[in-house]
Amino acid sequence: MLRRTKIVATLGPATDDPKILDNMLAAGIDVARLNFSHGHSKDHIERAEAIRNRARASGRQVGVLVDLQGPKIRIDNFKAGSVQLTKGDEFILDSKLDADAGDEQRVGISYKELPKDVKRGDTLLLADGQISLWVNDVVDGEIICRVMFGGELSNKKGINRQGGGLSAGAITEKDKQDIIVAAEIEADYLAISFVRTKEDVEYARELFQAAGGKGGIVAKIERAEALETDTLADIIEVSDVVMIARGDLGVEVGDAELPAIQKKIIKMARSQNTIAITATQMMQSMVDNPIPTRAEVFDVANAVLDGTDAVMLSEETAVGQYPDKAIKSMARICLEAEKQREARISAHRINTTFGSVDESIAMAAMYTGNHLGVKAIASLTESGSTVLWMSRISSGIPIYAMTRHVQTRRRVTLFRGVYPVSFDVSSENPVSANQEVIDELLRRGTVRTGDLVIITRGDLTGVAGGTNVLKIVKVGEQVSF
Ligand code: PGA
Ligand code: MN
Repeated sequence: MLRRTKIVATLGPATDDPKILDNMLAAGIDVARLNFSHGHSKDHIERAEAIRNRARASGRQVGVLVDLQGPKIRIDNFKAGSVQLTKGDEFILDSKLDADAGDEQRVGISYKELPKDVKRGDTLLLADGQISLWVNDVVDGEIICRVMFGGELSNKKGINRQGGGLSAGAITEKDKQDIIVAAEIEADYLAISFVRTKEDVEYARELFQAAGGKGGIVAKIERAEALETDTLADIIEVSDVVMIARGDLGVEVGDAELPAIQKKIIKMARSQNTIAITATQMMQSMVDNPIPTRAEVFDVANAVLDGTDAVMLSEETAVGQYPDKAIKSMARICLEAEKQREARISAHRINTTFGSVDESIAMAAMYTGNHLGVKAIASLTESGSTVLWMSRISSGIPIYAMTRHVQTRRRVTLFRGVYPVSFDVSSENPVSANQEVIDELLRRGTVRTGDLVIITRGDLTGVAGGTNVLKIVKVGEQVSF
């Protein structure tokens, strides 16, 4: 059985060895995330090139997602890379300290305005809420804190204020530079952090396109403001993908709220023909351990049952000890969860009307496929919209996006249940074109004689939005019109 849920894994220092990339590919990475909160653009450019090279060598298709830092407030670096903070200690966030001069007493901060934004009595949460500091006083650019919850604190960890209230816009000056790099990399997706409104997404898309970028836009939902139902619907409407960025979101709104929010966002995304990624701490213990905790197993499986398109790994792969094992564990958990009936049935859009002929063909293919017992759906597609509509319907049937466009093949790496196939119809004759599709599926070993296959395509190949044919073929039998 093919895994339908896609795996996004973050590249980082722990994945720079080409052998590790090969192992990650073998384990099933679908989309490589480059986290622009860390490292230099040169590292990211090299990593994008490396994963694409290794993917090519192993005959795999991997999408590349550039994740912008956004207005995230972070601490600077420690001389020793990290320190141990103990409850009751004093610890100072010092806006005047050199970037690499942090120690047990104090550390620098990237956002120099922070001392103006906080006051005595505030709670600051560091490292996705693992460490909590109580603000005792603010004096001359120094935020003097008392450690409430201690632990290990390492370089560049994020700072949130409990209850939210960041004032900065979603796209910083650094992000603008990074968008140019993302376009140079030919990123398949560009993720915008701390999106507040649909205008943030539209602005990012404008900048990306002006820089020559062609990929899709991912809106990261990680602010309390973005959760208001109308705002959220608008953001989903203008985005190709939404990410449930549980790290920052959980700190802003409280961790207990997250499960319900995750379900709501995934449901809204699917019904608005938008892709959903579930992110952060899915396999956190695997940074240091070769197997996940039971809770992590349940988390991944539950995200699959919620209907997510993709599950994401951050530190687990970027700086973890077991990058390929984390992917492998995720893959087997997804596969098992997908066997459950509720992951395969669908009442999606049962009461709605369709907007166009190609959308209707996509829906008809899924309805037929789910009720007739076909082995595969092969969709000849230009832009990928037919397979996007198809992938919104829960199903156990693989959907092959057969296209000559590499950009489309990379794009669909994130779509649940959709598999990219490099395919160019050489014949103008629809009968031989259908036969070519079947031959390709036979060559890939996905179908056998006697299997039923649904083919969708347009009368005119090479025209986006032209899908108007749904054909059911029995493998091995003479194909006709
Ligand atoms: P980050 O985004 O890893 O870039 O912070 C994800 C999250 O906040 O969950
Ligand atoms: Mn975040």
